[in-house]
Amino acid sequence: MIANLPETELPRIVIIGAGFAGLKLARKLVRSQYQVVLIDKENYHAFQPLLYQVATAGLEPSSIAFPLRKLFQREKKIHIRIDEVLEVNATDKFITLKNIGRVNYDILVLAYGADTNFFGNENVKLNAIPMKSIPEALTLRNRILGDYEIALSITDYQSRQEYMDIVIVGGGPTGVEIAGALADMRKYILPKDYYELNKDEVDIYLIDSGNKLLSAFSEQSSENAEKALKAMGIKVLQNTIVKDYDGVQVFLSNNEIIRTRKLIWAAGVIAGKLDGMPDNIYGPRRRIIVDEFNAVKGMEGVYAIGDCAVMITEDSPNGDPQVAQVAMQQAVNLAKNLKAIRKNSILTPFKYKDLGIMATIGRKKAVAEIYGVKYSGFFAWLTWLFIHLISILGTKNKLVVFINWAIAYFTRDQSLRLILKAKSLKNSAN
Ligand SMILES: Cc1cc2nc3c(=O)[nH]c(=O)nc-3n(C[C@H](O)[C@H](O)[C@H](O)COP(=O)(O)OP(=O)(O)OC[C@H]3O[C@@H](n4cnc5c(N)ncnc54)[C@H](O)[C@@H]3O)c2cc1C
Repeated sequence: MIANLPETELPRIVIIGAGFAGLKLARKLVRSQYQVVLIDKENYHAFQPLLYQVATAGLEPSSIAFPLRKLFQREKKIHIRIDEVLEVNATDKFITLKNIGRVNYDILVLAYGADTNFFGNENVKLNAIPMKSIPEALTLRNRILGDYEIALSITDYQSRQEYMDIVIVGGGPTGVEIAGALADMRKYILPKDYYELNKDEVDIYLIDSGNKLLSAFSEQSSENAEKALKAMGIKVLQNTIVKDYDGVQVFLSNNEIIRTRKLIWAAGVIAGKLDGMPDNIYGPRRRIIVDEFNAVKGMEGVYAIGDCAVMITEDSPNGDPQVAQVAMQQAVNLAKNLKAIRKNSILTPFKYKDLGIMATIGRKKAVAEIYGVKYSGFFAWLTWLFIHLISILGTKNKLVVFINWAIAYFTRDQSLRLILKAKSLKNSAN
């Protein structure tokens, strides 16, 4: 079946994925000499850096999601299709979608991001809660709140602990940010909403296989983050690997066992795989190897950008980091080059301009390294708030997020703690 799309004189660019990379590319190609088809399995763009706030009931999902059709309401040369891409046929230049069928392309851009890496551990995959999408963040929110409700009626201390304690695996920005937010929730929310529970019974563990949290940051920032987390009562376990998790027991490499019903898995990502793609295009963590123009080697007219791509150069032998800035800068450069191709002009190689990194560690605390300047504490937290606020799509979303943050700042409370479950969703108890 061939998908229903208008045939025009213009060459067709098909973009798979409307994340930071794909969306930026589509926006840059509006009114270009191409017909653009933007495909995503979801009908919205998700702002992943704030997923942890949805998971900890600080923000509603609609504040960090933006419907794709609303974004391109006025752009009739952009065609949006909501479906999952299954296969690429680079010989005959078409892709196959799960429901819609075949879409032919002249140029194909792979911008499908990366997904949670469970490192082949099927038990962890089955029982842990990942943090890579809005539904996953909502699952975590339901589980945190739902488990406190269950804990209220358990009299036996040992059994109650399983519902109160939380284990986070992965000491990168996601793990650190969610640990900080959970510590704040324990300190400010639990005594108000669940005053019958003893907040001191809630143990929050942050487990990392390395000897440094926030490994992409400087020693100074890592130490500051670790100190801040420990001061907030987080139990930081370093040089420790989670070997297995059966839904109740976390088996550690030091032979210890932690009992918990909630294991948050933020230990890394791996890019997806589409049928029909040759095996030799993949680099570490299944990222697609691209040249300095983001072209996929050996596949004419196929490009990859963002988390699913890796550009190995002398300056960055492991490729640039899998962060939003890289994804967006690659999209901007590729858009420029695709326009240049139409004009037969010279192409520009990609070079990442590192503007800096930052991570928040709870209320009024963060670490930041901006243009080489390292700082932490309240000012870093304000920088973090500002950068994230301006990066969220849509004025209404910016406003809603700002109001939520302001209320949370002044009242140390938010009123978003709803447990929203479809009938088929299960909690830890069943
Ligand atoms: C919890 C969390 C916190 C983060 N915090 C930060 C941060 O603070 N700062 C920072 O710079 N980066 C952060 N990141 C990383 C950042 O979000 C990614 O680097 C960025 O999203 C990569 O953009 P992308 O466009 O390559 O992929 P994504 O944004 O992941 O987009 C990929 C898109 O492709 C779609 N897709 C996937 N497969 C298919 C398919 N087969 N068919 C159709 N559509 C498909 C997906 O639905 C998705 O919309 C964070 C990531 C997470 C998970």
